[in-house]
Amino acid sequence: MSVCRTKNITTQHSVRTATLSLHKISAGARIAQHHHLSQPAVITTNTTARVLVSRNRIRTYASIASAASTSIVASSPNKKTLVLLGTGWGSTTILKNIDTRHFNVVVVSPRNYFLFTPLLPSCTVGTTENRSIMEPIRHIVGRRGKDIRFYEAECTDIDTKNKELVLERRPSENDTSAKTQEATLSKTRINYDYLVVGVGGTYNTFGTPGVQENALFLKEMGDASKIRRRLMETIEKASFDGISEEERDRLLHIVVVGGGPTGVEFSGELHDLAVEDLTKWVPHLAKRLKITLIEALPTVLPSFNKKLVDYTQQTFQKNGIHLMTNTTVKLVEKESLKVRDTKSGIETDIAYGTIVWAAGIRAREFAHTLRAKVPDVQTNRRGLIIDDYLRVQGAPDIWALGDCTVSKNAPLAQVASQQGKWLAKALNGMSKNSIQLSDAHSHIERAAKPFVYSSSGSLAYIGGERAIAEIPLLNRSITAGGPFASLFWKSYCLWELFSVRSSMSVATDWAKRAVFGRSISVE
Ligand code: FAD
Ligand code: MG
Repeated sequence: MSVCRTKNITTQHSVRTATLSLHKISAGARIAQHHHLSQPAVITTNTTARVLVSRNRIRTYASIASAASTSIVASSPNKKTLVLLGTGWGSTTILKNIDTRHFNVVVVSPRNYFLFTPLLPSCTVGTTENRSIMEPIRHIVGRRGKDIRFYEAECTDIDTKNKELVLERRPSENDTSAKTQEATLSKTRINYDYLVVGVGGTYNTFGTPGVQENALFLKEMGDASKIRRRLMETIEKASFDGISEEERDRLLHIVVVGGGPTGVEFSGELHDLAVEDLTKWVPHLAKRLKITLIEALPTVLPSFNKKLVDYTQQTFQKNGIHLMTNTTVKLVEKESLKVRDTKSGIETDIAYGTIVWAAGIRAREFAHTLRAKVPDVQTNRRGLIIDDYLRVQGAPDIWALGDCTVSKNAPLAQVASQQGKWLAKALNGMSKNSIQLSDAHSHIERAAKPFVYSSSGSLAYIGGERAIAEIPLLNRSITAGGPFASLFWKSYCLWELFSVRSSMSVATDWAKRAVFGRSISVE
C-alpha cells in the first residue's frame, strides 16, 4: 500500500504542477516547504495550491483562504510505509537496520538528533560538551539513502482504523518568528502501513507538590544545559559580597533526588567539578559546596550487586557527598524542601540552592493517546502493554519499544536498542517473504523468534575517576569498582557512541578537560 492517496499530478518536462490537499491552517497563511525527494512525491488533496516539482526537489507555495496542511511523503508505491516515532535508542536503531529496499521509512520526532544519554550527566558540568553526544538524525537518514523522510514534529494523535497520524510542529523557544510559524506549519497528517512507537519516557514527579515548579530535571539535552547554567550562575551569585553567610550556604547546597544511576552519576560529576575546577578558580566556595543525594530506599543503585552498592556509598562518603537513604520528599518549595524519614516518620526542612529531580520516569503523552484508542486492552497506566514480539496489544500493525512500554525489561538504552535491532530484523524478514499487509501482527511470529533481552552488563560512573561495573561472563557476573572500571566505562562510551564523529568529539572533550579543566563560563 502506498503512503498517501494521490490526486492529479501532471508533468511538464522537468517541472510538474500538481494539485494538493491542504487541511486547516489559519487564513491567509503561506507555506514554503522544500523537500528533497528522488522518488515521486505522493500528496493528499483537499483544497487547491500549486506545487512545483523540479527533478528531485519540490517547492510548495500555497495561498490559503481556508485552512490547510499537506502530507507529502517520499514513497515507492509498491513498498509499505513504516513510520518510526522518536529518534531515541529504540527508533534510531531500527532506522539504522531497516532494509529500505522493502520499506518507505518515515521518521517523526520533535528532536532532530539522537542523544547518547549515558554521557548526559557529564554535560551538566562541562566534562563533555553538548554537541559531542548529539548525532544529527539527518546524517543517519542521509547515509541510509533515499526513501527515508524525516519530520521534525511531535505525533499528537492517531486514527488506528484509517492508519493516520497527526503531526504537530511546535516552534522552538529560540524562534523569534514563532507566532507566524505556528500559524503556518502547525499540523499535518500522514498515513502508515506499519507503525513503531518509540517515544520514550519523561520524568516522573509522582505528584509531589512543588517539584514541577521548582526542580530541574535530567532527561533531555535542554535539561542538562539548564543545570549547567544554574550551577555557574549559583557560583557567581554565591561569590558576591552582598549576601549573608546563611544565604551563601543555601545557594551552595545542591540536592539530588533519586539514587538510581542518573542521580548517582550526576552527583559524581558535581563532585568532580568541585574538586577539579572550583578549587582552582573559587577555592573559598569549593570548600562550602554541599551535595546531598536523597533516596527513598535503604540504598542507592538497588539494581546493582551489593558489593558495588557498598563501594559506591563508601566512595560517596569519602568524597563528602551526603547520602540520605530511607528518605522521601514530601514537598518542594522555592528555597527549601520537606523530607520525611521513612523509618522514624520525622519530617525535616532542608534549604537548597539547586534541586535536581532524577527520581523516575513515566511514559510520554503519546503512549497514553494510543492507549486511549484501545482502553479495554491497554489498561496499564505506566505505558503501552506489549508482548514478546513487541506488538502493541489491541492495535494491529503497531509495535512499540523502549521506555514508553511496560514489559519485564528495565527502562534502559541497552533494552531499547536490542529491541530496535530485533524489530528491524523481524520486519525485514517479514517483507522479504512478501507477507501481506493484513494481519501483519500474526505474521511476525513466522518471521522471528520472540524477543529476549540479553544484558551486556551494568556500568555507572561515580566520580573521582571511579566507576562500578557488573559484567556477565559465562553464567557468572564479574564485578569491579574503582579507577580501572572507570577506564572501562570510558572505553565503553567511546565504543558505543553512534559515530566516529561523536567518539572523536567526546575524546577531544575529555583531553581538553584533562589539560585545561572545565569551562565555568555562564552562557
Ligand atoms: P528515548 O531515547 O527517550 O527516545 C524517545 C524519542 O521520542 C526522543 O527522540 C523524543 O524526542 C521522541 N518523542 C517524544 N515524544 C514524541 C512524539 N509525540 N512523537 C514523536 N516522537 C516523540 N540506559 C542505559 O542502558 N545505560 C546508561 O548508561 C543510561 N544512562 C542514562 C542517563 C540518563 C541521564 C538518562 C536520562 C537515561 C539513561 N539511560 C541509560 C536510559 C536510556 O536513555 C533510556 O532507557 C533510553 O533512552 C530509552 O530509549 P527510547 O528509544 O525508549 O526513548
Ligand atoms: Mg526511540
